[in-house]
Amino acid sequence: MKSKVYFAGVHTQGKQESLLAKMRRLFDRAGFGDMISRDDIVAIKIHFGEKGNTAYIRPTFARQIVDKIKEKGGKPFLTDSNTLYNGSRANGVDHYNTAIYNGFSYAVVNAPIIIADGIHSNNFIEVRIDKKHFESVKISKEIGNVSKMIVLSHFKGHENAGIGGAIKNLAMGCAPAAGKQQQHSAIKPKVSSKCVGCSTCLEYCPVSAITKEGGKALIGETCIGCGECISICPIRAISPQWSTEIPIFLERMVEYAYGAVRNKGDNVGYINVLMNITPLCDCYGFSGAYIVPDIGILASKDPVAIDAASYDLVNEQSGNLNSSLKCNHEKGEDKFRGLYSSIDTVRQFSYGEEIGLGNKEYELINI
Ligand code: SF4
Ligand code: SF4
Repeated sequence: MKSKVYFAGVHTQGKQESLLAKMRRLFDRAGFGDMISRDDIVAIKIHFGEKGNTAYIRPTFARQIVDKIKEKGGKPFLTDSNTLYNGSRANGVDHYNTAIYNGFSYAVVNAPIIIADGIHSNNFIEVRIDKKHFESVKISKEIGNVSKMIVLSHFKGHENAGIGGAIKNLAMGCAPAAGKQQQHSAIKPKVSSKCVGCSTCLEYCPVSAITKEGGKALIGETCIGCGECISICPIRAISPQWSTEIPIFLERMVEYAYGAVRNKGDNVGYINVLMNITPLCDCYGFSGAYIVPDIGILASKDPVAIDAASYDLVNEQSGNLNSSLKCNHEKGEDKFRGLYSSIDTVRQFSYGEEIGLGNKEYELINI
């Protein structure tokens, strides 16, 4: 049976049809309120955006979800896990400060922020999953400990996964640094002869695994496969071994997503925001030009279906010629292959279906 995915477009004609009103209506139509009882503590999993990024989800959208949960008597909190790389969200204190800087203050969102894996990212639980790549996965404790969750995701491109949507928000976003590292460990990049020795990647590597030899970068054995150097190189001289490593990375990611919701049964709702659809994820301290026009907001109880629907809706658009989309600008062409030609991102959907995370067949319901 197809999973239901509810959709509200960006086109609007009046105040009662504002995107904020549509967000609240999607919450109701997708049945998220039915899973919340008085005094339930409900996590709202969101990405607060790296400092300098401008494409992340607006705090006022999160406020709508907070208010809907409170209407049902629930106790919501906003949450995310610390990053693996050195940035403005690498520990609980910096992360909290960045969230406030980006507008997620209590005065705006009406709920507390709790960084799910603590100050030093060592606050997590092991969740048994018994899948192909992992017997168990590491899930940030304050996410693992709650039984109800709304996953609010900004849908966009992603340099390693092709797309970043609900599955990625669960997989990377609900994992502490050690869990992120386990997912990434399949990506061992290589430096090509194009390297001009600018040292940018040396400064960015979180474990100082890159040195210089003969004026060129050299990746050493201590590389943890985080993939950060791939996008940071200004001339794209670093690339992963696409054919063998990316499919394994995608499968590991999907298994982590499965682990993040393993103990929550039917008590997880997913909302994907298809606006500001950038080529890179919100972990960068900048945002590129949007690859397609704004589309709308989706809600579903199925993370695979909502990402599959989001992917299809993006591909139905014409591509922005003034963006880093290199080809596939026509309606119907794959925009994510246009960005990352070697990443078979739909493996997220087929593997998600294979392991029971969700259903890639969906019914799109306009509200
Ligand atoms: S060499 Fe690149 S992939 Fe490896 S740890 Fe450093 S930044 Fe990450
Ligand atoms: S960032 Fe790129 S060009 Fe600069 S040293 Fe690293 S691999 Fe070479």
